[in-house]
Amino acid sequence: MKVTDYIAAAAGNTLISFEVLPPLKGGSMKSIFDTLDPLMEFKPPFIDVTYHREDFEYIKRPGGHYEKTAIRKRPGTVGICASITNRYGVDAVPHLLCGGFTVSETENVLIDLAFLGIQNVLALRGDARHFDGKFVAEDHGHNYAVDLVKQIADMNHGNYLDEHIKNAQATEFCIGVAGYPEKHFEAPNLDMDLRYLKEKVDAGAQYIVTQMFFDNQVYFDFVEKCRAAGIDVPIVPGLKPLTKYYQLNSIPRLFHINLPSDLVESVEAVKDDRRKIKQAGIEWCIQQSKELKAAGVPCLHYYTMGDVKTIRKIAESVF
Ligand code: FAD
Repeated sequence: MKVTDYIAAAAGNTLISFEVLPPLKGGSMKSIFDTLDPLMEFKPPFIDVTYHREDFEYIKRPGGHYEKTAIRKRPGTVGICASITNRYGVDAVPHLLCGGFTVSETENVLIDLAFLGIQNVLALRGDARHFDGKFVAEDHGHNYAVDLVKQIADMNHGNYLDEHIKNAQATEFCIGVAGYPEKHFEAPNLDMDLRYLKEKVDAGAQYIVTQMFFDNQVYFDFVEKCRAAGIDVPIVPGLKPLTKYYQLNSIPRLFHINLPSDLVESVEAVKDDRRKIKQAGIEWCIQQSKELKAAGVPCLHYYTMGDVKTIRKIAESVF
């Protein structure tokens, strides 16, 4: 079933969903199941699986020289999605990137997904590889998520890259895209970012999942601005609890978002006690979740980051 159908069927009740990361290369599905098994009692209708592009690292070889080596640390998104659907009977939502794919490779992945009965995809551009410094598309790849959305929407109309295919089967993907309540870090300002977000929706995106935020007012303002800009699809808030002291710096650095003073102060007040820091972060996320649920958001989407105990505590208090 499509994410948007679940949201419509919930008729204003807030759903819950989770995002998981593929295990590091060499790992097994067990780590995914260990994360998801304890969360299934909350009945998430869909689960997202992130995608990780190949990156480059310089590895020191005997003799002291460095060799540029391509490394993909977390492969397996499509297989994990199939496995999740098979085990739990819920819909898995693979994240699909522009980065690392030519348009024909993208088409082939989408064909695989359609054959597996996967009906939802989250269409993303992807970040820059560390080595490149800024985002670089493949030759014959997409530069922006909107181009990926257009390709998927084309396939939903039965239009494949090969014009000679006759009677092509139209796919039925429900397309989600990313939104940034505090703007995407490359965008000159929020208005410009919203203009591009609207382009993604006009091209066929049917729902938005937000970057994490720690101040609900930021989300509420974002939704209001989206509506004013004519973006009328569901906007699913993405949430992550802060659980460690160093995240006071790493979260703003990695995700380009602001941490509210009250949260920072509550963590600073217990900075020498790891257990209390975690508790402060969990309590903050519970309060955020309760307020968002009371406001009738379509779904609370938790970034699990492999920390199932924490996410369970939050879900137990909110659902
Ligand atoms: P876009 O929508 O293409 O936007 C990128 C930037 O370009 C923005 O600044 C935008 O304002 C600008 N822009 C957009 N269109 C145009 C245009 N036509 N002309 C000029 N400028 C334009 N990354 C991963 O690698 N794997 C994942 O699984 C993953 N999952 C994510 C899930 C969520 C919910 C979110 C919020 C992010 C996720 N990311 C993931 C990170 C994401 O790939 C990065 O944030 C990336 O830098 C931007 O992706 P996007 O799809 O928002 O890009």
